[in-house]
Parts: sequence; structure tokens; C-alpha cells
Amino acid sequence: MDFELSVEQRALADSVKAFIDERVDPRMPEIERTNAIPPELLKEASDLGLFGISIPEEYGGSNLSRLSRVLVHQMLGRSGFGFAGIFAAHGGIGSEALVTIGTPEQKQRYLPRMATGELRGCFALTEPGAGSDAGGITTTAVKKGDRYILNGVKHYISGSTHAGLLTVVARTNTAPRSKEMSVFLVEPSFKGFRIGTVYDTMGCKGHPIAELLFEDCEVPEENRLGPEGKGWLAATKTLMEGRPVVAARCVGACERLLEISTDYAKTRKQFGQAIGEFQGIHFMLADMATRTEASRLLTYRAAVLADEGRVTSQDTSMAKLFASETLAFVADSALQIQGGSGYITDNPVGRFYRDARITRIYEGTSEIQRGIIGRSMLRN
Ligand SMILES: Cc1cc2nc3c(=O)[nH]c(=O)nc-3n(C[C@H](O)[C@H](O)[C@H](O)COP(=O)(O)OP(=O)(O)OC[C@H]3O[C@@H](n4cnc5c(N)ncnc54)[C@H](O)[C@@H]3O)c2cc1C
Repeated sequence: MDFELSVEQRALADSVKAFIDERVDPRMPEIERTNAIPPELLKEASDLGLFGISIPEEYGGSNLSRLSRVLVHQMLGRSGFGFAGIFAAHGGIGSEALVTIGTPEQKQRYLPRMATGELRGCFALTEPGAGSDAGGITTTAVKKGDRYILNGVKHYISGSTHAGLLTVVARTNTAPRSKEMSVFLVEPSFKGFRIGTVYDTMGCKGHPIAELLFEDCEVPEENRLGPEGKGWLAATKTLMEGRPVVAARCVGACERLLEISTDYAKTRKQFGQAIGEFQGIHFMLADMATRTEASRLLTYRAAVLADEGRVTSQDTSMAKLFASETLAFVADSALQIQGGSGYITDNPVGRFYRDARITRIYEGTSEIQRGIIGRSMLRN
């Protein structure tokens, strides 16, 4: 498989890398402290076209290939996940279903504003009683005249506090464990919708998660996405498509941690020499770099297969599983190399360490990814 990047892809990756390293990274301590993203950074991201990479050109986006998208997310991951997560929640899972199965009217109504970031998206599947077992959701959508009435609770939804459009999965067939679910485009101003608890998280500062409450929430029929009862496929496809994006952010974070670690190993002296002279440090750096490179290749492979229309859930799960577990290893090793200074709160390595932990949990835990891969091996 050929992963040779075109001149345009290199230029794209370089421009996002420069934005992250020069504009976003220096502001990360402030983002950590305030748990908010400075509006001017969002404006610069909009000017760079970062909100529109997965949106078709006719609606103002750039509709990049899957490989180009993962390159963008790889570079975003260099600052950790507080800032980067915004683009994944919005352009990945938050608009994927609308782009894939929306009607031309639905797309025209929302996508042009989503392409600029004026309107941000999020994806709401998880509920207090249904996490890994997403098929167990209990939020209902009952048809009443020309509207659906939604009742239920979603929680831990990324980007929902700033979202202007929520893609919500609800049950239209109330029979237990029926897969007849539907997807709805919910605007926060719809009657009966409100944000509940906004959770304080150990990492990903600036990108809060919240609880969403639907109390006889009225959703116009024209805001149902795709045919009634066919939402389960759209939801699982959305999650499958999102996994290489998580993997790409992990790769970018690993690459940044490797840079920090090699720089530190060259300058920190103990026993009269740079710690990078010790074989123990060589071994750590070698394992970090080797696993990072393997993660990058698995991620690019999933993206190229998606571009060729032949990606499977096994491919995307392998990329997400391996890259997120690699990031855990790399962040831990990077902290070890920093010694005690790595444990001081304002050391950036500690931020990566905290951010990294979520990648083995959201968009399907590592156990769920292993289940997908194992079952698919036995099917073939
Ligand atoms: C920061 C953050 C952001 C999130 N963003 C979103 C979002 O934008 N949209 C959204 O819909 N959701 C979101 N989530 C929810 C996330 O996807 C779920 O937390 C995740 O899927 C796990 O579900 P759970 O927390 O209910 O854990 P559980 O499903 O209760 O799992 C608990 C443990 O049991 C294990 N387990 C469960 N089932 C099995 C099994 N069959 N085999 C082996 N082990 C199993 C799990 O792997 C885990 O270790 C977010 C969560 C967080 C923390």
C-alpha cells in the first residue's frame, strides 16, 4: 500500500502543524486554567478551513480525502485533545451522519454554517444506562402529528455545550432491544431540550462534556435524518468512520511527546552526562518511536482503505485500539523520562498524560475494539 503524500497533502499538514505549534500550543496553559478556548483561535481555525474538512464543497467545505483528514487530525493532536477534540466532535462524528444520509434541504440548512464553524455539531448516543452497550439506549422518539416527541437523557456528550446542532440517536420502536432507532437533528432552542450537568473532567480542558435532557422535546419531522428505524446503521457507521480520526490525534500526540522526550534526554544531565547517553533511555525512546510509527501506518492504512471504499470495522478498530494504547505507553514513558519534573502540573507532558486516558474509552473502549476485531476474524 502506498502512503506517499502529495505535495498538496504535505503543504496541508505543514500549515496545520504551524498553526498548532505557533498559535495554539503556547496558549494551552491558559486553556487548561480557564477550561475555555480563546475565540480568536477558533476564528483562525475557521480561516484555515478546519471546520469544513469533511463537508462537501457545494456546502462550503473542502471535502478532503480520508487520508488528508487524518493528516489534519494528526497535526491537531500535537497540542493534546482539548483544542483538537472540538474538530473531531464537530467534523467527525458531529456532522458525518448529516453528510452521509441528510436530504439536500437538511444539508443546505445546516452545512454551510457548519463549514465555517459558525454552527458547531456534536453526536449524542451514550446514556447513563447505555455506554458500550449502545444498542440498549432508552431515549424514545414518538411520532405525534408532524413532530417527534423525544424523552430521555444522554450524557458525556463532547462539544454539546457549544453545539448549535446535535445529532441524536433515539428509539422509534419501543420493543426491548429493537434496533429500530432513528437519528434526529436537534437544535438547542427546540422546546423541551436543555443541557443538564456539565462535567469536570481530568483532561481535555476547553472541550467540556455534558448531560443532555429531553423532556417532551419537540423535533419537527423534517429533522429526522434518514428513514425512520434505520438510525442504528447510521450511528454505527458514524462511529466506525470516527475511529481513524481518534487514532490520528493519538499519533500526533505521540509525535509531539517524542520530540519533547528527545530534547529533554539531550539536555538533562545526571552522573555527569546527558541522560540520553544511557542505554535505558535509548530503549524507552526506541519503543516509543517504533510503536508510534506502527500506529501511524495503521491509521493511514484505514484512511486509504476508506478512500478506496473498502475499509472494514476491523481496520478502523485496529487503528484506534493500537494508536490509543500506544499513546498511553508513550505518555507514560515520556513522563518517566522527565523524572520528577514530569509530575509538576504545568509540565505539558502531564497534560498529554491526562488527555491520553480518554482515548481508550470514548468512541468504543479498548475492550469493545478487541471484541469487534475478534468477532470479525471469526466471521471471515
Ligand atoms: C470525555 C468523554 C467524551 C465522550 N464523548 C461522547 C460523545 O461525544 N458522544 C457520545 O455519544 N458518547 C461520548 N462519550 C461516552 C463514551 O463513548 C462512553 O463513556 C464509552 O463508550 C464507555 O461507556 P461507559 O462509560 O458507559 O462504560 P461501560 O460501557 O459501562 O464500560 C465499563 C467497563 O466495562 C467494559 N465492558 C463493557 N462491555 C464490555 C464487553 N462486552 N466486553 C468486555 N468489556 C466490556 C468497558 O470496556 C469498560 O472497561 C464520552 C465519554 C467521555 C468520558
